[in-house]
Amino acid sequence: MAMSLVAMILSFMFITAVTQSISIARSQEGLATQAEVIASGIKLNGKRFLDETVFGDYLRVTWVSRSGEVIYDSDKDVRSLGDHSDRAEIKAAQKNGSGSASRYSTTTKTTEFYYAMRLDDGTVLRVSGGHTTYSAQVVSLLRPTLIVIFLLILMSALFAVVSSKLIVKPINSIDLNDPKKGKRYRELEPLLVKLHDQNVRVSRQIDELSRSRQQFDQVTEHMTEGIVAANSRSTILTCNSAAAELLGAGQVSEGQSIFALNRSDTFRHCVNDAMGGKRSECVIHTDGGDREVIASPAKSPDKINGVVVFIMDVTEKQQLEVMRREFTSNVSHELKTPLTTIYGSADMLANGIVKPEDVQQFGGNIRSEADRLITLIDDIVSLSKLDEDAVPRETEDIDLYDLSDEVVRRLAPAAAEKNVTGDITGSHVVFNGCRTVISEVIYNLCDNAIKYNNDGGSYTVKISQKHSKAVITVSDTGMGIPQQHIGRIFERFYRVDKSRSRRIKGTGLGLSIVKHGVMYHGGEVRAESKPGCGTTFIVELPLHKNTGTPAEE
Ligand code: ADP
Repeated sequence: MAMSLVAMILSFMFITAVTQSISIARSQEGLATQAEVIASGIKLNGKRFLDETVFGDYLRVTWVSRSGEVIYDSDKDVRSLGDHSDRAEIKAAQKNGSGSASRYSTTTKTTEFYYAMRLDDGTVLRVSGGHTTYSAQVVSLLRPTLIVIFLLILMSALFAVVSSKLIVKPINSIDLNDPKKGKRYRELEPLLVKLHDQNVRVSRQIDELSRSRQQFDQVTEHMTEGIVAANSRSTILTCNSAAAELLGAGQVSEGQSIFALNRSDTFRHCVNDAMGGKRSECVIHTDGGDREVIASPAKSPDKINGVVVFIMDVTEKQQLEVMRREFTSNVSHELKTPLTTIYGSADMLANGIVKPEDVQQFGGNIRSEADRLITLIDDIVSLSKLDEDAVPRETEDIDLYDLSDEVVRRLAPAAAEKNVTGDITGSHVVFNGCRTVISEVIYNLCDNAIKYNNDGGSYTVKISQKHSKAVITVSDTGMGIPQQHIGRIFERFYRVDKSRSRRIKGTGLGLSIVKHGVMYHGGEVRAESKPGCGTTFIVELPLHKNTGTPAEE
């Protein structure tokens, strides 16, 4: 459009210039012809011809004498006109017979053309006519020219739209996934071939990437630990389902913020530290349990590209840690109590403060506290032995009935002291296991059945087999255990009634040893009780799987 506009303007200027020069030439020729005609008129009728002829607006006729004086002028009063001998056209006519000149008139804004011819009597006849200037001609041609320009612009716009559509159509129809297909411009061939090669290369790389991504996902999806990677804008790049589950995040989508996984301040600070380039660890508490979070920055030499976060379930570890601390403080306390009594009594004896008749009683106190200490240490040793699950134990076939009978006999003096009778029923079930451990299990249950029994009460050990399990049932007619305590009696140092327990000797470790011993053999133990009526402990030992891993209570 711009090109045609420029072409149009240039041709307009050129054409108007040419037509201008042609029309000037024509009017000069016209002036000469008219001068000839007027000259013949003067020749015939003299000045009368001029006076009687009307020359119109566009023609001026001037007759000048030989001396340059104006004899006649069709436009102006001759008296107002001065000497004309100095006019170029008149000078030329006097000298050569004819002459012409042109002068611009500022009053008429036109260029005046003059033609002068010498008559036979030596006078000079001059005719002149105005001619429009170049700019006047331009103005007069401007309107049609503008119409043509407008039409031309319209046509070029139409042409531009249509032609550009036609040019672009084959380019638009190129299938970028398969650029070699279809009709194409020859000029685009090298580009399309390059594009095709790049497509092939890119799709191969995408295949490789998605294969390694799949492998990565397969590995991480089967991890029990959570793993999350995020970029520097905290957007999740990868997150395995364990991470979402451990953090309690539900459905996780790529592009989500890592902070949406867990809203706790601890988690946010931990991740932010890693974003800042510092490896950070923390433990967060979720509805599902305790989680250890390790956030590491993903660094390149000059910047931090994001973070990698590992999440581990440490609920059990935390619980064990709490239990370990409780156990240590309980052990210290339990050891300290009898030792304090022993130290106090021994101190008084050594200082001779004790009266001779009380010495026996003090000695008895020391012995009973030392007894308690020994029992406690024995129980702790038993428990720590059971804790060392890695140590393999010798197993043998044990007749549970005979072993129980042996235990009941061993405890007969204690039972007699409490006026409790022990009994054994059932069948001779043979179980392959560690004799000392099983013996300890039965001993502790029977010991409790006597200790927590009523005066004149009884207890029964029953050996039976249920499916593929050996079952040891120890039931008593004792005080029973309130329901709310049953879930906790297997915990270390847990005693139902502290004040009552003071009277009844015990460490609070007996049932712990029972539980560990049973679990070591892959079995289970549970208690059923009705306060005031008695308690029953049921131990089930798998007959074909006699060894197991003891677990913490
Ligand atoms: P302890 O050394 O105190 O006997 P245990 O671990 O053997 O420790 O028992 C834990 C608690 O369970 C006891 O303090 C007692 O209160 C309760 N308990 C255990 N066996 C019986 C039972 N047969 N009858 C009633 N209570 C019992």
